[in-house]
Amino acid sequence: MAETLNPFKIAQDEIKWACDKLNLGNSVYEVLKEPERVIVVNIPVKMDDGTTKSFVGYRSQHSTILGPAKGGVRFHPNVNLDEVKALSVWMTFKCGVAGIPYGGGKGGVCVDTQELSKGELERLARGYIRAIAPIISPEKDIPAPDVATNPQVMAWFMDEYSKFAGYNTPGIVTGKPVSIGGSLGRNQATGYGVSVMVQKVCEQLGMDINKTKLAIQGFGNVGSFAALTSAQKGATVVAIAEWDKKIGTYAVYNEDGLDIEAMFKYKEEKGNIIDFPGGKMISLDEFWKLDNVDIMIPAAMENAITTKNAADIKTKIIVEAANGPTTPEAEQILIKNGVTVFPDILCNSGGVTASYFEWVQNLQNFYWTVEEVNSRLEGIMTKAFDEVYKMHEDYKVTLREAAGMVSIKKIADVMKLRGWV
Ligand code: GLU
Repeated sequence: MAETLNPFKIAQDEIKWACDKLNLGNSVYEVLKEPERVIVVNIPVKMDDGTTKSFVGYRSQHSTILGPAKGGVRFHPNVNLDEVKALSVWMTFKCGVAGIPYGGGKGGVCVDTQELSKGELERLARGYIRAIAPIISPEKDIPAPDVATNPQVMAWFMDEYSKFAGYNTPGIVTGKPVSIGGSLGRNQATGYGVSVMVQKVCEQLGMDINKTKLAIQGFGNVGSFAALTSAQKGATVVAIAEWDKKIGTYAVYNEDGLDIEAMFKYKEEKGNIIDFPGGKMISLDEFWKLDNVDIMIPAAMENAITTKNAADIKTKIIVEAANGPTTPEAEQILIKNGVTVFPDILCNSGGVTASYFEWVQNLQNFYWTVEEVNSRLEGIMTKAFDEVYKMHEDYKVTLREAAGMVSIKKIADVMKLRGWV
Protein backbone atom coordinates (compact mmCIF):
# COMPACT_ATOMS: atom_id res chain seq x y z
CA MET A 1 0.00 0.00 0.00
CA ALA A 2 1.32 3.44 -0.93
CA GLU A 3 2.21 5.62 2.05
CA THR A 4 -0.14 8.56 2.71
CA LEU A 5 2.15 11.55 2.48
CA ASN A 6 -0.51 14.12 1.55
CA PRO A 7 -1.19 15.79 4.90
CA PHE A 8 -4.66 16.99 3.87
CA LYS A 9 -5.73 13.43 3.08
CA ILE A 10 -4.37 12.36 6.47
CA ALA A 11 -6.25 15.19 8.22
CA GLN A 12 -9.53 14.39 6.43
CA ASP A 13 -9.19 10.71 7.35
CA GLU A 14 -8.66 11.71 10.98
CA ILE A 15 -11.85 13.82 10.98
CA LYS A 16 -13.84 10.99 9.39
CA TRP A 17 -12.48 8.43 11.80
CA ALA A 18 -13.36 10.53 14.88
CA CYS A 19 -16.87 11.32 13.55
CA ASP A 20 -17.52 7.61 12.96
CA LYS A 21 -16.13 6.55 16.34
CA LEU A 22 -18.34 9.09 18.11
CA ASN A 23 -21.38 7.94 16.06
CA LEU A 24 -22.02 11.45 14.80
CA GLY A 25 -23.45 10.42 11.44
CA ASN A 26 -22.09 12.01 8.30
CA SER A 27 -23.23 15.63 8.77
CA VAL A 28 -20.43 16.79 11.07
CA TYR A 29 -17.90 15.29 8.66
CA GLU A 30 -19.58 17.04 5.71
CA VAL A 31 -19.10 20.40 7.46
CA LEU A 32 -15.53 19.75 8.55
CA LYS A 33 -14.02 17.85 5.61
CA GLU A 34 -13.05 21.06 3.77
CA PRO A 35 -11.98 24.45 5.14
CA GLU A 36 -14.71 27.11 5.41
CA ARG A 37 -12.63 29.42 3.29
CA VAL A 38 -9.29 29.36 1.46
CA ILE A 39 -7.58 32.24 -0.27
CA VAL A 40 -4.69 31.94 -2.73
CA VAL A 41 -2.79 35.16 -3.35
CA ASN A 42 -0.07 36.39 -5.65
CA ILE A 43 2.47 38.58 -3.87
CA PRO A 44 4.69 40.67 -6.14
CA VAL A 45 7.86 41.82 -4.35
CA LYS A 46 10.34 44.47 -5.51
CA MET A 47 13.71 42.74 -5.21
CA ASP A 48 16.91 44.55 -4.27
CA ASP A 49 18.20 44.31 -7.86
CA GLY A 50 15.22 46.32 -9.14
CA THR A 51 13.32 43.39 -10.64
CA THR A 52 9.90 42.23 -9.42
CA LYS A 53 9.35 38.64 -8.35
CA SER A 54 6.04 36.99 -7.48
CA PHE A 55 5.43 34.59 -4.60
CA VAL A 56 2.33 32.50 -4.02
CA GLY A 57 0.67 32.67 -0.62
CA TYR A 58 -2.26 30.94 1.07
CA ARG A 59 -4.57 31.33 4.04
CA SER A 60 -6.94 28.57 5.02
CA GLN A 61 -9.71 29.11 7.59
CA HIS A 62 -10.81 25.61 8.39
CA SER A 63 -13.38 26.22 11.10
CA THR A 64 -14.70 29.20 13.04
CA ILE A 65 -17.43 27.45 14.98
CA LEU A 66 -15.63 27.78 18.32
CA GLY A 67 -14.20 31.25 17.66
CA PRO A 68 -12.01 33.12 15.17
CA ALA A 69 -9.67 31.07 12.99
CA LYS A 70 -6.23 30.88 14.60
CA GLY A 71 -2.91 29.65 13.36
CA GLY A 72 0.54 30.46 12.11
CA VAL A 73 1.99 31.49 8.78
CA ARG A 74 4.94 29.51 7.43
CA PHE A 75 7.48 30.71 4.90
CA HIS A 76 8.97 27.58 3.32
CA PRO A 77 9.80 26.34 -0.18
CA ASN A 78 7.53 23.28 0.22
CA VAL A 79 4.42 25.24 1.20
CA ASN A 80 1.43 24.23 -0.93
CA LEU A 81 -2.35 24.41 -0.72
CA ASP A 82 -2.93 20.92 0.66
CA GLU A 83 -0.28 21.40 3.34
CA VAL A 84 -1.83 24.69 4.48
CA LYS A 85 -5.33 23.17 4.48
CA ALA A 86 -4.13 20.20 6.56
CA LEU A 87 -2.33 22.43 9.02
CA SER A 88 -5.53 24.50 9.42
CA VAL A 89 -7.46 21.32 10.26
CA TRP A 90 -4.87 20.42 12.87
CA MET A 91 -5.23 23.93 14.34
CA THR A 92 -8.99 23.28 14.71
CA PHE A 93 -8.15 20.03 16.50
CA LYS A 94 -5.49 21.71 18.60
CA CYS A 95 -7.63 24.60 19.82
CA GLY A 96 -10.42 22.12 20.57
CA VAL A 97 -8.13 19.88 22.61
CA ALA A 98 -6.73 22.86 24.53
CA GLY A 99 -10.26 24.16 25.08
CA ILE A 100 -9.46 27.69 23.91
CA PRO A 101 -12.14 29.70 22.07
CA TYR A 102 -10.70 29.49 18.56
CA GLY A 103 -11.20 27.64 15.33
CA GLY A 104 -8.37 26.57 13.08
CA GLY A 105 -6.50 28.55 10.46
CA LYS A 106 -3.12 28.43 8.77
CA GLY A 107 -1.20 30.36 6.17
CA GLY A 108 1.94 30.06 4.17
CA VAL A 109 4.11 31.49 1.45
CA CYS A 110 6.15 29.31 -0.88
CA VAL A 111 9.60 30.85 -0.44
CA ASP A 112 13.12 30.09 0.75
CA THR A 113 13.73 32.96 3.19
CA GLN A 114 17.48 32.27 3.19
CA GLU A 115 17.58 33.61 -0.33
CA LEU A 116 15.97 36.95 0.62
CA SER A 117 17.63 40.06 2.03
CA LYS A 118 16.05 41.59 5.14
CA GLY A 119 14.39 44.27 3.01
CA GLU A 120 12.97 41.70 0.59
CA LEU A 121 11.64 39.64 3.50
CA GLU A 122 9.95 42.70 4.97
CA ARG A 123 8.32 43.60 1.64
CA LEU A 124 7.14 40.00 1.23
CA ALA A 125 5.67 39.92 4.77
CA ARG A 126 3.85 43.22 4.24
CA GLY A 127 2.64 42.11 0.81
CA TYR A 128 1.26 38.88 2.23
CA ILE A 129 -0.72 40.65 4.95
CA ARG A 130 -2.07 43.24 2.49
CA ALA A 131 -3.22 40.39 0.26
CA ILE A 132 -5.11 38.53 3.01
CA ALA A 133 -6.21 41.65 4.96
CA PRO A 134 -9.81 41.55 3.67
CA ILE A 135 -10.44 38.16 5.30
CA ILE A 136 -8.64 38.62 8.65
CA SER A 137 -9.26 40.73 11.77
CA PRO A 138 -8.87 40.23 15.54
CA GLU A 139 -12.46 38.91 15.52
CA LYS A 140 -12.17 36.77 12.37
CA ASP A 141 -8.72 35.24 11.98
CA ILE A 142 -5.48 35.84 13.87
CA PRO A 143 -2.15 34.80 12.28
CA ALA A 144 0.97 33.86 14.27
CA PRO A 145 4.51 32.52 13.72
CA ASP A 146 5.21 29.11 12.24
CA VAL A 147 8.19 27.63 10.35
CA ALA A 148 10.66 30.42 9.38
CA THR A 149 8.50 33.30 10.60
CA ASN A 150 9.43 35.08 13.83
CA PRO A 151 8.51 38.05 16.08
CA GLN A 152 10.03 40.54 13.59
CA VAL A 153 7.80 39.19 10.80
CA MET A 154 4.83 39.46 13.19
CA ALA A 155 5.78 43.10 13.87
CA TRP A 156 5.65 43.83 10.11
CA PHE A 157 2.31 41.99 9.87
CA MET A 158 0.89 44.07 12.74
CA ASP A 159 2.21 47.33 11.33
CA GLU A 160 0.90 46.69 7.81
CA TYR A 161 -2.52 45.58 9.05
CA SER A 162 -2.71 48.64 11.33
CA LYS A 163 -2.26 50.88 8.28
CA PHE A 164 -5.05 48.97 6.53
CA ALA A 165 -7.36 49.31 9.57
CA GLY A 166 -6.42 52.93 10.21
CA TYR A 167 -5.46 52.42 13.85
CA ASN A 168 -3.06 50.37 15.97
CA THR A 169 -4.34 46.79 15.96
CA PRO A 170 -2.07 44.59 18.11
CA GLY A 171 -4.75 41.88 18.38
CA ILE A 172 -4.50 41.06 14.66
CA VAL A 173 -1.49 38.79 15.16
CA THR A 174 0.22 36.96 18.01
CA GLY A 175 3.87 36.12 18.60
CA LYS A 176 4.81 39.81 18.38
CA PRO A 177 7.85 41.30 20.11
CA VAL A 178 6.93 42.17 23.70
CA SER A 179 7.50 45.92 23.14
CA ILE A 180 4.62 46.11 20.64
CA GLY A 181 2.09 44.04 22.55
CA GLY A 182 3.60 40.57 22.50
CA SER A 183 3.16 38.39 25.55
CA LEU A 184 5.93 37.48 27.92
CA GLY A 185 6.60 33.76 27.53
CA ARG A 186 5.09 33.46 24.00
CA ASN A 187 8.37 33.01 22.14
CA GLN A 188 9.33 29.92 24.12
CA ALA A 189 5.77 28.71 24.76
CA THR A 190 5.57 25.85 22.23
CA GLY A 191 8.83 24.32 23.49
CA TYR A 192 7.91 25.02 27.10
CA GLY A 193 4.56 23.29 26.55
CA VAL A 194 6.40 20.26 25.14
CA SER A 195 8.42 20.06 28.36
CA VAL A 196 5.19 20.23 30.37
CA MET A 197 3.99 17.25 28.32
CA VAL A 198 7.27 15.38 28.88
CA GLN A 199 6.74 15.86 32.59
CA LYS A 200 3.13 14.66 32.38
CA VAL A 201 4.16 11.61 30.32
CA CYS A 202 6.75 10.72 32.96
CA GLU A 203 4.19 11.08 35.77
CA GLN A 204 1.55 9.10 33.88
CA LEU A 205 3.90 6.24 33.02
CA GLY A 206 5.70 6.17 36.37
CA MET A 207 9.05 7.39 35.05
CA ASP A 208 11.47 9.65 36.93
CA ILE A 209 12.12 12.72 34.75
CA ASN A 210 15.58 13.01 36.30
CA LYS A 211 16.46 9.65 34.76
CA THR A 212 14.75 10.31 31.44
CA LYS A 213 16.80 10.67 28.26
CA LEU A 214 15.50 12.66 25.30
CA ALA A 215 16.46 12.89 21.62
CA ILE A 216 15.07 15.88 19.75
CA GLN A 217 14.85 16.32 15.97
CA GLY A 218 15.13 20.04 15.28
CA PHE A 219 16.78 22.95 17.08
CA GLY A 220 14.53 25.71 15.76
CA ASN A 221 12.16 27.71 17.94
CA VAL A 222 10.25 24.63 19.14
CA GLY A 223 13.05 22.06 19.47
CA SER A 224 15.50 24.43 21.15
CA PHE A 225 13.11 25.58 23.86
CA ALA A 226 11.75 22.05 24.32
CA ALA A 227 15.35 20.95 24.95
CA LEU A 228 16.16 23.83 27.28
CA THR A 229 13.01 23.67 29.41
CA SER A 230 12.98 19.85 29.57
CA ALA A 231 16.59 19.97 30.77
CA GLN A 232 15.57 22.58 33.35
CA LYS A 233 12.92 20.14 34.56
CA GLY A 234 15.62 17.46 35.05
CA ALA A 235 15.59 15.47 31.79
CA THR A 236 18.83 14.68 29.94
CA VAL A 237 18.96 15.63 26.27
CA VAL A 238 21.39 13.19 24.63
CA ALA A 239 20.88 14.01 20.94
CA ILE A 240 19.72 16.84 18.72
CA ALA A 241 19.22 16.38 14.98
CA GLU A 242 19.41 19.31 12.59
CA TRP A 243 19.43 20.23 8.92
CA ASP A 244 21.81 22.50 7.09
CA LYS A 245 21.60 23.84 3.58
CA LYS A 246 25.20 22.80 2.79
CA ILE A 247 25.68 19.49 4.58
CA GLY A 248 22.05 18.27 4.80
CA THR A 249 20.88 16.32 7.86
CA TYR A 250 23.10 15.55 10.85
CA ALA A 251 22.83 15.12 14.59
CA VAL A 252 24.92 15.91 17.66
CA TYR A 253 25.10 13.22 20.32
CA ASN A 254 26.47 12.88 23.85
CA GLU A 255 25.35 9.89 25.88
CA ASP A 256 25.92 11.82 29.12
CA GLY A 257 23.80 14.75 28.00
CA LEU A 258 24.27 17.89 25.90
CA ASP A 259 24.73 21.30 27.51
CA ILE A 260 21.71 23.04 25.95
CA GLU A 261 22.56 26.53 27.16
CA ALA A 262 26.00 26.20 25.55
CA MET A 263 24.30 24.95 22.40
CA PHE A 264 22.09 28.08 22.29
CA LYS A 265 25.23 30.25 22.48
CA TYR A 266 27.01 28.17 19.83
CA LYS A 267 24.06 28.47 17.45
CA GLU A 268 23.83 32.20 18.03
CA GLU A 269 27.50 32.56 17.01
CA LYS A 270 27.68 30.04 14.15
CA GLY A 271 24.10 29.93 12.88
CA ASN A 272 24.01 26.12 13.27
CA ILE A 273 25.14 23.36 15.67
CA ILE A 274 27.57 21.58 13.32
CA ASP A 275 30.62 20.28 15.26
CA PHE A 276 29.19 21.50 18.57
CA PRO A 277 32.11 20.76 20.94
CA GLY A 278 29.94 19.18 23.68
CA GLY A 279 29.05 16.13 21.56
CA LYS A 280 29.98 14.05 18.56
CA MET A 281 28.48 14.30 15.08
CA ILE A 282 26.30 11.35 14.00
CA SER A 283 24.03 10.84 10.99
CA LEU A 284 20.24 11.24 11.02
CA ASP A 285 19.97 7.46 10.46
CA GLU A 286 22.01 6.82 13.59
CA PHE A 287 19.87 9.37 15.45
CA TRP A 288 16.61 7.48 14.76
CA LYS A 289 18.28 4.19 15.74
CA LEU A 290 19.56 5.36 19.14
CA ASP A 291 18.79 2.67 21.69
CA ASN A 292 19.43 4.45 24.99
CA VAL A 293 16.74 7.10 24.63
CA ASP A 294 13.44 7.12 26.55
CA ILE A 295 11.54 9.78 24.61
CA MET A 296 12.03 10.78 20.99
CA ILE A 297 10.75 14.27 20.11
CA PRO A 298 10.32 15.13 16.41
CA ALA A 299 10.30 18.95 16.42
CA ALA A 300 10.92 19.82 12.78
CA MET A 301 8.52 19.24 9.88
CA GLU A 302 5.75 16.83 8.86
CA ASN A 303 6.56 13.32 7.52
CA ALA A 304 9.72 12.93 9.62
CA ILE A 305 8.77 9.40 10.71
CA THR A 306 7.69 7.32 7.72
CA THR A 307 7.70 3.63 6.76
CA LYS A 308 11.37 4.16 5.86
CA ASN A 309 12.57 4.77 9.41
CA ALA A 310 9.69 3.78 11.75
CA ALA A 311 10.95 0.22 12.22
CA ASP A 312 14.41 1.56 13.20
CA ILE A 313 13.09 3.46 16.18
CA LYS A 314 14.02 1.73 19.43
CA THR A 315 12.61 4.40 21.73
CA LYS A 316 9.29 3.41 23.29
CA ILE A 317 7.74 6.89 23.62
CA ILE A 318 7.32 9.62 21.03
CA VAL A 319 6.21 13.13 21.97
CA GLU A 320 5.34 15.02 18.80
CA ALA A 321 6.40 18.65 18.87
CA ALA A 322 6.20 19.29 15.12
CA ASN A 323 2.90 19.30 13.25
CA GLY A 324 2.19 15.99 11.48
CA PRO A 325 5.64 14.37 11.94
CA THR A 326 4.39 10.74 11.79
CA THR A 327 2.59 9.25 8.78
CA PRO A 328 -0.38 6.94 9.53
CA GLU A 329 1.47 3.93 8.07
CA ALA A 330 4.55 4.70 10.17
CA GLU A 331 2.34 4.92 13.24
CA GLN A 332 1.01 1.40 12.55
CA ILE A 333 4.59 0.11 12.57
CA LEU A 334 5.33 2.00 15.80
CA ILE A 335 2.20 0.59 17.46
CA LYS A 336 3.19 -2.94 16.41
CA ASN A 337 6.57 -2.36 18.00
CA GLY A 338 5.02 -1.18 21.26
CA VAL A 339 5.80 2.52 20.82
CA THR A 340 3.35 5.03 22.34
CA VAL A 341 2.87 8.25 20.39
CA PHE A 342 1.71 11.39 22.22
CA PRO A 343 0.24 13.44 19.38
CA ASP A 344 1.13 16.89 18.03
CA ILE A 345 -2.27 18.47 18.56
CA LEU A 346 -1.87 17.88 22.28
CA CYS A 347 1.89 18.20 22.76
CA ASN A 348 2.56 21.37 20.76
CA SER A 349 -0.56 23.24 21.82
CA GLY A 350 1.50 25.44 24.18
CA GLY A 351 2.23 27.86 21.33
CA VAL A 352 -1.34 28.61 20.42
CA THR A 353 -2.34 28.63 24.08
CA ALA A 354 0.17 31.41 24.81
CA SER A 355 -1.04 33.12 21.62
CA TYR A 356 -4.52 33.07 23.09
CA PHE A 357 -3.15 34.76 26.23
CA GLU A 358 -1.41 37.37 24.07
CA TRP A 359 -4.65 38.13 22.19
CA VAL A 360 -6.61 38.40 25.46
CA GLN A 361 -3.99 40.82 26.81
CA ASN A 362 -4.17 42.88 23.58
CA LEU A 363 -7.95 43.09 23.69
CA GLN A 364 -7.86 44.15 27.35
CA ASN A 365 -4.74 46.30 27.14
CA PHE A 366 -3.72 44.68 30.40
CA TYR A 367 -0.48 42.71 30.55
CA TRP A 368 0.51 39.67 32.58
CA THR A 369 3.75 38.48 34.19
CA VAL A 370 5.66 35.55 32.68
CA GLU A 371 4.78 33.52 35.78
CA GLU A 372 1.06 34.08 35.11
CA VAL A 373 1.49 33.06 31.47
CA ASN A 374 3.44 29.91 32.31
CA SER A 375 1.21 28.77 35.13
CA ARG A 376 -1.99 29.28 33.12
CA LEU A 377 -0.37 27.48 30.19
CA GLU A 378 0.55 24.57 32.44
CA GLY A 379 -3.02 24.46 33.76
CA ILE A 380 -4.57 24.32 30.29
CA MET A 381 -2.15 21.71 28.95
CA THR A 382 -2.42 19.51 32.02
CA LYS A 383 -6.21 19.50 31.72
CA ALA A 384 -5.96 18.72 28.00
CA PHE A 385 -3.54 15.85 28.67
CA ASP A 386 -5.85 14.35 31.32
CA GLU A 387 -8.89 14.64 29.04
CA VAL A 388 -7.09 12.97 26.12
CA TYR A 389 -5.68 10.23 28.35
CA LYS A 390 -9.13 9.49 29.76
CA MET A 391 -10.64 9.27 26.25
CA HIS A 392 -7.75 6.93 25.29
CA GLU A 393 -8.53 4.65 28.22
CA ASP A 394 -12.33 4.85 28.00
CA TYR A 395 -12.50 4.06 24.28
CA LYS A 396 -9.31 1.95 24.04
CA VAL A 397 -8.04 4.06 21.15
CA THR A 398 -4.62 5.52 20.42
CA LEU A 399 -3.76 8.86 21.97
CA ARG A 400 -3.93 10.53 18.54
CA GLU A 401 -7.40 9.10 17.97
CA ALA A 402 -8.40 10.17 21.49
CA ALA A 403 -7.16 13.74 20.92
CA GLY A 404 -9.15 13.96 17.69
CA MET A 405 -12.23 12.63 19.46
CA VAL A 406 -11.95 15.13 22.34
CA SER A 407 -11.84 17.93 19.83
CA ILE A 408 -14.53 16.73 17.41
CA LYS A 409 -16.86 16.02 20.31
CA LYS A 410 -16.61 19.63 21.53
CA ILE A 411 -17.12 20.95 17.98
CA ALA A 412 -20.05 18.63 17.25
CA ASP A 413 -21.82 19.62 20.50
CA VAL A 414 -21.58 23.30 19.53
CA MET A 415 -22.67 22.56 15.95
CA LYS A 416 -25.81 20.91 17.27
CA LEU A 417 -26.58 23.80 19.65
CA ARG A 418 -26.08 26.34 16.88
CA GLY A 419 -28.20 24.34 14.47
CA TRP A 420 -25.46 23.62 11.92
CA VAL A 421 -26.18 19.89 11.82
N1 GLU B 1 2.22 27.86 14.49
C1 GLU B 1 1.91 27.40 15.80
C2 GLU B 1 1.18 26.08 15.76
O1 GLU B 1 1.24 25.36 14.78
C3 GLU B 1 1.24 28.47 16.66
C4 GLU B 1 -0.07 28.96 16.17
C5 GLU B 1 -0.59 30.16 16.94
O2 GLU B 1 0.04 30.59 17.88
O3 GLU B 1 -1.64 30.66 16.54
O4 GLU B 1 0.58 25.67 16.71
